[in-house]
Amino acid sequence: MINDTKIVNAGRKSKWTRGVVNPPVERASTVVFNTVKEMNYATVNRGNQVLFYGRRGTSTAFAFADAMTDLEGGAGCAIYPSGTAAITNAILSFVKTGDHILMVDTAYEPTRDFCDKILVNIGVETTYYDPTIGRDIAELIKENTRLIFLESPGSITMEVQDVPGIAEVAHQHGCMVMLDNTWAAGVNFQPFDYGVDISIQAATKYIVGHSDVMLGTAIATEEYWPQLRENSYLMGQCTSPDDLYLAMRGIRTLGVRLKQHQTSALKVANWLATRDEVDVILHPAFESCPGHEYFKRDFTGANGLFSFVLTRGDKQSLNALLDGMEHFKMGYSWGGFESLILGNTNVGRLRTATKWNYEYPLIRLHIGLEDVDDLIADLARGFDRLNAALENKA
Ligand SMILES: *Cc1c(COP(=O)(O)O)cnc(C)c1O
Repeated sequence: MINDTKIVNAGRKSKWTRGVVNPPVERASTVVFNTVKEMNYATVNRGNQVLFYGRRGTSTAFAFADAMTDLEGGAGCAIYPSGTAAITNAILSFVKTGDHILMVDTAYEPTRDFCDKILVNIGVETTYYDPTIGRDIAELIKENTRLIFLESPGSITMEVQDVPGIAEVAHQHGCMVMLDNTWAAGVNFQPFDYGVDISIQAATKYIVGHSDVMLGTAIATEEYWPQLRENSYLMGQCTSPDDLYLAMRGIRTLGVRLKQHQTSALKVANWLATRDEVDVILHPAFESCPGHEYFKRDFTGANGLFSFVLTRGDKQSLNALLDGMEHFKMGYSWGGFESLILGNTNVGRLRTATKWNYEYPLIRLHIGLEDVDDLIADLARGFDRLNAALENKA
């Protein structure tokens, strides 16, 4: 289990810090050697956290990779310039023409797009599956199924998956298991304890935590690490040490930030549950969220991101709610210190294997670190605008 002591110390080996508190920013393209012996040593060990050439990383990258494996476990961490790059490169590292993959129907939209627009062109077939399928995933596994991709909770609609159940079935059939573990932020779900082979994060979100860096990570087990690492190198993936420095600075406060995000989000969600504008709360800690039982079983906490569905409203009244918000700004992404709101009147557009059964709009919130009473008052005024817009129409 992760605790705050681990979070504070993650990746801070003296080998990387050399006596200062934070691993320094080490910029490099060229690494120079004075002797053939030194150069040969670096060449032989180039996949192994030694200075070789800038693209392979400097001590800043090595420290960040160590920090991530300190948090999530696993044998090694490949670093990418965005969460999306981590997802696409991790998948590409392990599929070839003729393979089939199973992709969760509630995957992050660019993940779906990658399957539908890139994998399809190299002859890799994708089947989307219901996030609540659990062990029945067995029925979808084919002779050529190479991997099963999970995202738990699901994007926008927050379904929590039976990760260990799916992983067990996958392994029985010789398939590998990849998880988009962004929501757990390296803290609230330990992927390798539940049979995941590769755990991916958009570190852009809570790891960085301040909405100012794009960054992705993919961590693999001993079995898959050499291939993931080599593929990341072959695909030319590298990241700026300045961004990695900021990400590591973000990690230091990850524990306290997540606790505050969680506490405030639960307070907002509990308030929303009392409102008659709100139909269902899609927060993993609520019984109304599909897969809540897996959240209780497998997660050690939540964060600031959840959704809810309205009991009324159309595009126009939803826009009236959204346009007048004082503290909640509209924006993609989440995981920073600021509160965000997104309205969605067409959730069904994002899925093909399952049906979205709600008639009225969905709202996704990211609860930031502002005073929670200010956030609740902001939402209450938003509901007033929603109701006024509906009344004007009637
Ligand atoms: C944001 C996000 C990503 C993509 O990360 P980027 O760094 O924006 O490319 C992937 N998965 C999930 C669940 C996300 O929220």
